Amino acid sequence: MDDFPPYPSGLRLAGRRVLVVGGGHVSQRRVPGLLACGADVVVVSPKVTPAIEGLAGAGEITWHARGFDDADLDDAWYVIAATNDPWVNEQVSAGAERRRTFCVRADDATAATAWTPAVGRHEGVTVAVLGSRDPRRSARLRDEIVECLREGKLADHDDRDATPGVVLVGGGPGHPDLMSIAGRKALMAADVVVADRLAPRELLGDLSSDVELIDVAKLPRGRSAQQEEINRVIVARAQAGKRVVRFKGGDNFVFGRGFEEVQACREAGVPVTIIPGLTSPVAVPAVAGIPVTHRGVAHEFTVISGHLPPGHPESLTHWPSVAGLQGTLVLMMAVQNAPAIAAALVDGGRPADTPVAVVCDGTMATQRTVLSTLGTLAADLEREAVKPPAIIVVGGVVAVAHPDHYGR
Ligand code: SAH
Repeated sequence: MDDFPPYPSGLRLAGRRVLVVGGGHVSQRRVPGLLACGADVVVVSPKVTPAIEGLAGAGEITWHARGFDDADLDDAWYVIAATNDPWVNEQVSAGAERRRTFCVRADDATAATAWTPAVGRHEGVTVAVLGSRDPRRSARLRDEIVECLREGKLADHDDRDATPGVVLVGGGPGHPDLMSIAGRKALMAADVVVADRLAPRELLGDLSSDVELIDVAKLPRGRSAQQEEINRVIVARAQAGKRVVRFKGGDNFVFGRGFEEVQACREAGVPVTIIPGLTSPVAVPAVAGIPVTHRGVAHEFTVISGHLPPGHPESLTHWPSVAGLQGTLVLMMAVQNAPAIAAALVDGGRPADTPVAVVCDGTMATQRTVLSTLGTLAADLEREAVKPPAIIVVGGVVAVAHPDHYGR
């Protein structure tokens, strides 16, 4: 009999009596799962754990504080024998057998007529794993399956969700593990993916081969021509009934022109949703061990694009005001203009020995941090041959993170 596998079945226990004999930790682990399925749970045991006692007190279960009686089985659709006395468990399972009621046994699976699988749930799907009586193996497998479902790694295409439109997905600072679960799911459900250079590109390898992948780096150059083409493509594909993911590094709304894409979609009547990402001005310093705020050191942090040098006619940043700030400055797209920015900050009154950290290729295998000061930044960037992408952090938080370097 042992050679046969168990026959899986989904019991619909709502409103049905389930008898649990025993009130120890095994019962405590089983009862919440039964309650979640709406079962009418009766626990029979002279003593129970405080958690079970609490459920009884709250009226969620019935507890009979006494030993097992064969008549307890009369109304039960399903039975769990979970006392620490094998003789009692045997009485329970024998009584259940006579009544043709399935019975789980905590002490001896071979003597039981039912086994409890490792159970996980995800969006209306129940995953139950029965791992040849190896509970750890079952639990591990259950965890992996549920995680894959959550992350969208298993092709769980719920076609009821297959509405066309555009989803802006923030990919985080670069490492694939730092992307949100919602973002990964949207990516895995996409028909078309329009990806930037800084988006976590390793994830694109997981896309199925029928997904159309549009690499923005290969679109015509020139900032506005390229953006117009992106707007045109995402709108056109969505109007053709596709699910389009616009996939960018960090967060699409942080120096990502994401809202121009939202506007283009709205003008065309295309539905658009936004899934935020971990943005690099916070996440990249963090992975490099630098906090953007620290009690007693910085009560503010200011994120600034350095793609235009101070004094440039199109610049929207008033650098003299920035130089007057006390807190942390986080400069993005600033490698090229860093010497001019450092000079403007010193001119405006920030001390030349203000600590600066340049974090390059954050979260990637090539990540490195160059420590500097406003006064020496230009020379340090040149000597270290720093290339984008890099985040430049200015302020006392850098010395908090690297006290030895700054002799503090
Ligand atoms: N939308 C993105 C930022 C795009 S602007 C976000 O929210 O993070 C591009 C700039 O972001 C780069 O020039 C660099 O300053 C910064 N950046 C993005 N990813 C980075 C990374 N992994 N390491 C260092 N800097 C990064």
